[in-house]
Amino acid sequence: MAAIKHRRTALERVEKFISDTYFTDCNLRGRLFGDRCPLASLSYFQTPRRIPYEEAVVQEFGPAQVGQSFGPTWETCWFKVELSIPSAWAGREVHFVWESDGEGMVWRDAQPVQGLTKEGEKTSYILTRSLKESEPHSLTLYVELACNGLFGAGKGSMIAPPDPDRRVTLSKAELVVFNRDVYELLVDLEILLDMAQLLGEENQRSFQALYTANQMVNVCDVMDPSTFPATRDLAAAIFSQRNGESQHTVHAMGHCHIDSAWLWPYEETIRKCARSWVTVVQLMEHNPELTFACSQAQQFEWVRRSYPGLYARIQDFVAKGQFIPVGGTWVEMDGNLPSGESMVRQFLQGQRFFQEQFGRICSEFWLPDTFGYSAQLPQLMHGCGIQRFLTQKLSWNLVNSFPHHTFFWEGIDGSQVLTHFPPGDSYGMHGRVEEVLKTVKNNKDKGRVNHSAFLFGFGDGGGGPTQKMLDRMKRMSDTDGLPRVQISTPDQLFSVLEKESSQLCTWVGELFLELHNGTYTTQAQIKKGNRECEQILHDVEVLSTLAVAQDKEFQYPASQLQQLWRLLLLNQFHDVLPGSCIQLVVEDALQYYTEIRRVGAQLQEKAVESMCRDLLQPEEGSTQSTLVLNTLSWERTEVISRPGPNGKETLALVTVPSMGYALVQEPLVPPQLVKVYEGEDGSITMENGVISVCMDTMGHLISLRLMDFERESIANGCANQFALFDDVPLYWDAWDVMDYHLETRKPVTTMLKPLEVTLAGGLRGSVRFSLKVGKSSTLTQEIILDAMCPYLRFQTQVEWKEAHKFLKVEFPVNVRSTSATYEIQFGHLQRPTHWNTSWDWARFEVWAHKWLDLSEHGFGVALLNNCKYGASVHRNILSLSLLRAPKSPDSTADIGLHQFTYAVMPHQGSFQEAGVIQQAYSLNFPLHVVPASCAPCPAWSAFSVSSPAIVLETVKQAEDRPEAVVVRLYEAHGSTVTAWLQTSLPVKKAMLCDLLERPVGWGLSLEKQGLRLSFTPFRVLSVLLVLSC
Ligand SMILES: [Zn+2]
Repeated sequence: MAAIKHRRTALERVEKFISDTYFTDCNLRGRLFGDRCPLASLSYFQTPRRIPYEEAVVQEFGPAQVGQSFGPTWETCWFKVELSIPSAWAGREVHFVWESDGEGMVWRDAQPVQGLTKEGEKTSYILTRSLKESEPHSLTLYVELACNGLFGAGKGSMIAPPDPDRRVTLSKAELVVFNRDVYELLVDLEILLDMAQLLGEENQRSFQALYTANQMVNVCDVMDPSTFPATRDLAAAIFSQRNGESQHTVHAMGHCHIDSAWLWPYEETIRKCARSWVTVVQLMEHNPELTFACSQAQQFEWVRRSYPGLYARIQDFVAKGQFIPVGGTWVEMDGNLPSGESMVRQFLQGQRFFQEQFGRICSEFWLPDTFGYSAQLPQLMHGCGIQRFLTQKLSWNLVNSFPHHTFFWEGIDGSQVLTHFPPGDSYGMHGRVEEVLKTVKNNKDKGRVNHSAFLFGFGDGGGGPTQKMLDRMKRMSDTDGLPRVQISTPDQLFSVLEKESSQLCTWVGELFLELHNGTYTTQAQIKKGNRECEQILHDVEVLSTLAVAQDKEFQYPASQLQQLWRLLLLNQFHDVLPGSCIQLVVEDALQYYTEIRRVGAQLQEKAVESMCRDLLQPEEGSTQSTLVLNTLSWERTEVISRPGPNGKETLALVTVPSMGYALVQEPLVPPQLVKVYEGEDGSITMENGVISVCMDTMGHLISLRLMDFERESIANGCANQFALFDDVPLYWDAWDVMDYHLETRKPVTTMLKPLEVTLAGGLRGSVRFSLKVGKSSTLTQEIILDAMCPYLRFQTQVEWKEAHKFLKVEFPVNVRSTSATYEIQFGHLQRPTHWNTSWDWARFEVWAHKWLDLSEHGFGVALLNNCKYGASVHRNILSLSLLRAPKSPDSTADIGLHQFTYAVMPHQGSFQEAGVIQQAYSLNFPLHVVPASCAPCPAWSAFSVSSPAIVLETVKQAEDRPEAVVVRLYEAHGSTVTAWLQTSLPVKKAMLCDLLERPVGWGLSLEKQGLRLSFTPFRVLSVLLVLSC
């Protein structure tokens, strides 16, 4: 009989035939499951802790029922499941079905065997694929049920703060017969129906698929399985009609994005990894073609420690090339805020872990879900053995559509990496027709490349791939009308892209995400913890390396440093450092910072003790002096505070050599002391011979001048102006600040305490004032000018109690330039100060590290900070973003006391010539001051560099080589320069190495002036120094 002619009735007929809502009494879907059988028994116990299996199974279990609910949020229920499979089910496939809105893990014989998550479409554990008489029919399983969903427990919406009282319900727990032949037909029909609907009426393939599906419904008698093979043959005939040679190839790879902490705490992530990955290896047992790309060394390390049995299975599949470690980093970190050295350590810790555990490093950087990508990353990737990069987050851009999916990305130093964004704009595909069609249609590099990535598997909260996703894609492997879908690996994809790369375009500079720009500011304590702990670990490494050189007995704290670094790196995860996490995560993160500060302080103290032992024991009755240590690579002259006679802090001006120390007995006398004048109108002027500043009673800078240079820096007589903005984004509260917030600017104008002098001059002058901010917040600021210091420091304290407000401080300056400069990792870049094009105004809120600068030829003003990242320069106004107050996912975000420091530095010449970079380092790396005896002791410098363009950033012991030191330097001015590195350490041999500390090229010759190093703009060089012991 001829096929029916009405397209809509045919379509809907097929839809109803596989519907799980309509006609399940008589349709195919209703036949998916056969007989059912209740559990023999179900009992449980509940605990607030996440405990190991061994501890759980010896607890007292009480009765439990299907339909019962459990909680509250974050508790865990352990269920003991006794089951007995009816012998009448011989030859049948039997599933243990478990449906609940919590996340479950099935344990069998003391091993995890299956993750169960309704939201991740995993509700059954396959007991047998064909029940044999010899198989055990009765067995005991345990189900570990977390009282939280795949996305935590948000109250009312996903990103709302967790509901502490949420309960999860066990809605189904039973044994069923699973009709696999029905399932296969359902997948056939689903694919055909999608082809019919999505290929469109202009495509004959759509009709071929539709009429085939319609004919299948005619042939299939749902009550008579003997009709199923003939029905399947109809589908097979159409699926096996092949594509032409030019068809696009979709490289499908299993994936499971697991946020290391987000709407759930770190500890839950450990279980999420186990639930997701055990499901993957279970799938691999039955699908030898399945590949799975898996990032984040930290997550592997968690599973290695907590689930050794599962980890061993994973190692087997890694060896087989199916379970594929990718990314090379410790965690999928934020791409903007970590320092250059932190980013190096992400790779160093990650790649070393992968090498040690799996015998190879990763060859692609994998960061699909991070809120923007620093222009320094291409060079860092190269230095860590990586020339390929996969992400997709720029598809979230709110304003501009990024013009490529496959391209070369070029960093600030000129390094290029082959970059691929899966054109389907997702890392959590489900293997559907719609998604593979989008992958082809959306690809912006059509004609240049004919291959693209397709990452399938539930993500964010874990979950991963399912059997159904694989079965869908099997049908689409090579079917006319659809792209070719092949299960692939990152290496296969990038290898073919490399072959096709001759036509690819190049994108130069940062990959800025035009969204989530509030993440530079949200959760200020986390930002502060990050910056401070980066400084602490830097100093511990410098001081410990110097201690080794001075004292052969001293043990470099390599393993402690590794632990502390790993804590810091973990907190750089892309929902923690950005501040887009729940309160529980914030508490954990702050505790890790406390740990780093505590142990870091001990390690610094030990290193200093070893280095300067003889100096630190004051003799009886001697006048005390002070040991001052400098961990930066240039000489510094600064005012320090030190304990004086009778225990009172006194100020002293000191000079300390680069990366070394000096013993200070007689402090220096500055060429000019700080003078402080009070005006009749309440204004106060401070000068130190370098700069002169005048402030009004509210702490505004009405004038700021370089004293040798008759030029006013401040425009309109009103800098250090605080402004409050309404800050209500469209949805992503902790993440987003929208362009329209700029229209709600309200200057802070309520004075609580007028400006008063707190230090009347000498080595230091300072003034203080207080303001009321918003409804009930208060801000107190101390403005400090030190002798000889080229910047004015603003030590600020805010008691912050706002809701959905954004606090910034503004410096309108007398500088005209169309671009401003911002510090990034190991360098800087320019962004426009105007809003000409959509690409310009989409960057109304940007990020910077320790400084930003607005300069014209010969003059400029820089803004330095010690823990802030959000900033902007529009026209001639430099703004530093200080505090936000979002309410989701942490309703308490940023409420409380904050302390931070920023500084303003007017300068003559360029910011490079004026030393802005060095001053910003000095603000962030204070001198160490230690009471000492007054034994005669010459100042000592371990390292110095001949060129001001070169920053010697890192000095550490080489990994696994106690006899060697690694130093890392970078060119900071954006210039080509040759410099000498000098050291007083006993260097036997020196060679360049990469960021993983592997030697590259020949050794460097040691000359009288030191080591000669050549740099191109922003080049990062690492040198391995082998010491003679
Ligand atoms: Zn994520």
